[in-house]
Formats: sequence, structure tokens, C-alpha cells
Amino acid sequence: MKRVYLDYSATTPLSPSVLSEMLPYFTEQFGNANSMHAFGQEGAYAVDGARRKIAELLGVKPTEIYFTSGGTEADNWALKGGAHAYKSKGKHVITSKIEHAAILSSAAQLEAEGYKVTYLPCDEHGIIRPEYLEEAITDDTSIVSIMLANNEIGTVQPIKELCEIAHRHGALFHTDAVQALGSIPVSILDLGVDMMSFSAHKFYGPKGIGVLYVKGGIKPDKLIAGGHQERTRRGGTTNVPAVVGLAKALEEAIEGLEANYNHIKGLRDYFVQEVEKNIPFVVYNGHRDSRLPQNANFAFEFIEGESLLLTLDLSGIACSSGSACSSGSLEPSHVLLATGLPIEKAHGSIRFSFGKDTTKEDVDYVLETLIGAVKRLRAMSPLYAEYIGGNK
Ligand code: PLP
Repeated sequence: MKRVYLDYSATTPLSPSVLSEMLPYFTEQFGNANSMHAFGQEGAYAVDGARRKIAELLGVKPTEIYFTSGGTEADNWALKGGAHAYKSKGKHVITSKIEHAAILSSAAQLEAEGYKVTYLPCDEHGIIRPEYLEEAITDDTSIVSIMLANNEIGTVQPIKELCEIAHRHGALFHTDAVQALGSIPVSILDLGVDMMSFSAHKFYGPKGIGVLYVKGGIKPDKLIAGGHQERTRRGGTTNVPAVVGLAKALEEAIEGLEANYNHIKGLRDYFVQEVEKNIPFVVYNGHRDSRLPQNANFAFEFIEGESLLLTLDLSGIACSSGSACSSGSLEPSHVLLATGLPIEKAHGSIRFSFGKDTTKEDVDYVLETLIGAVKRLRAMSPLYAEYIGGNK
């Protein structure tokens, strides 16, 4: 059976050249990067080189790069570490209703500690408009965290403007760039942010490794107490192969950005056009233009997203309903609800996310299967029968 993976926003396959670069650090060069001897120094040299390469690719200083276990840890560190370190300014934190669970759960922890958290709304396209932040920010706001691009509907936020507002009020600004980095051009300096999270497995690097960029001079509280790793701010033996893999994957992602962007966006736009042409009663969730190239999210009215997902899975097609992190819960997506989509349409929503290995043939196979699956599921749907009956 043909298999088509359209869930690149959940994770991507490891690039073979990234794997080759990582392999020696599992075997011959296995030393602990904190050991004084030659074995350790080989590891330390690799970590330093990776840190310098990442900093250069991002146009920042190596001392501003902190390795973490991924996007979730980087988000936790930025929000809680930032709020704790700067609480003398005030105990008010601002984020949005459409953040990843890593930020929303961290914000809930801060609320439990007595912080006031404001969750900004988004408009019907999933955009967090600068005026929403203007209205909410106060002299007590110590940190604002808004994601660069949303994982479910792909909306790209006006981060530069949002960051300027935060800075005008003396607040720190963090952005979760986990979905954006490697997909669209990202300039930390141009955006002006104080902290940025990212994660290697979203751009063909290994799982379990990420970065928190922290602008020089800013010191979020430590998240993990331990040894002297990451300039004593994040303890734990450094995962040398993963760090090396992250640097190589980032280099490839940035070098191939334009070609991958055009390829992926071309296929996504074709897919969206064909879905809208061939399937009635669909809503294209998110913003048409301010959007990641890989993301297409549709609400298929009168059917359950999970039934469609499983039907597609039986035909070898992988996509996602809601985000992978919230699958396992049948709660409708908090992101779609925040855009004002009614619960029943949010329940019928599916995310398709494209990658550099996706082909036109793959997309045509998915279109053909999807069009048939939606027809069959609607034929069994009492809601659809009722709607059609009522409109006869
Ligand atoms: N933030 C966003 C926007 C994400 O999409 C994800 C993962 O899906 C994360 C954070 C978490 O990253 P990680 O899987 O590296 O913990």
C-alpha cells in the first residue's frame, strides 16, 4: 500500500547527512563534554563548534545559545524563568490563547504561584493583533510570550510589532519559533526578541534537542539545577550527538530554505485549491497569506476529524486532528475555538502538513482518497442527512 506522510509539523525524518555527522559521537567520540581529558575535550570541541555554527546561522552570539531537551523545555524556561527573574517589575504575564501547551501549562503554573496572566485573543484568521497587546499591557507586565507561527493553523504573527510594544513598556519578549525556524526566514535581530525557542526535530534534526536563545544581559532563572553545563544555567550532561545534529540540520534548513519553501508552498497551494474545488462545506482554517508554507488546516463539516483521520490512516495517509500533543484528548482544539470556529466544525478539522520529500504524486493520491472518504463519511452522517433533507 502507498504510504504518504503529511504530518511534518508533528515531526520530520532525520536527514541522512545529519545522521552521519552525529554517528561518531555515539561511538568513538563518546566522551563527556565536561571531562578534562582528551576524550571529553573532543566532545567539548564538537559542542563549541555546534554552538558557534548555530549562532552564526542565526546572526547572534554563541553565548546567547542555550541547549535544551527541546521546544517544550525552552518554552518552560523562557516563560517561568523570565517571570521569576523579573518579578520585581511586576507579576503580570501576557501570552495568547493559541499558544502551544508548553507555554499554556507554564502560564497556568505561574497563575497558581500568584501571577496574573492575560491570554490575548486572536482574530478569526488566528492573528494576534498588536492592538490586543496594547490594550492588555501594563506597567506591571514583566514578560510577553507570543508564538512566531502556530502549530495547528500555521498563522504567522506580527512578532516585530508585538515585540516593540512589549519593549516600550519595559517588558521582556519571548517567541516560540518551533514551527517557524527552517520553514520561513527568521531573523532574531530584526524581530528584536529577547528569547526564542526552537526544536531540531521540526527541521529534519534529531528529537530531544532544542535551543533557547537568550539575548546577552538577560538572565532568566535557572530551570534545571545541576552541573556547570550551559554556563551553569541548565545542568545535565550535554547530549553531544544531538547538539551536533541540531547544528547540521539548521545549516541544511537555512541553506535549502528558499528551494524547500517554494516546493512545499507550491504543493500546499495546489492541495488547498483542489480541496476547495472538489469538496463542498469545507472551511480553510487560519490566514490565507500570513501562514507557514507547509500548513493546510480544514474543517470538513458534518464529519468527525478522528473518523476522517482513521479512514485516511487505513489508506496509508498520515495527518493530524488538532496537534499531536493534544491527540489522545477529544477536546476540540483550543486554537480553532479561539478563532471563533463553532465546536462542531472544530471537531471536524484536520491538519495536513507538507515536507521537502512530499511529491505531487503524493498529493494527488491524498486528494483522491480524501474526496472519497469525505463523501463516504458524510453519507453515514445523520447531521449531513438532516441538513440536506432540510434544504431540499
Ligand atoms: N512549540 C510548538 C509551537 C510546537 O509545535 C511544539 C511541538 O509540536 C513544541 C513547542 C514542543 O517542542 P518539542 O517537541 O521539541 O518539545
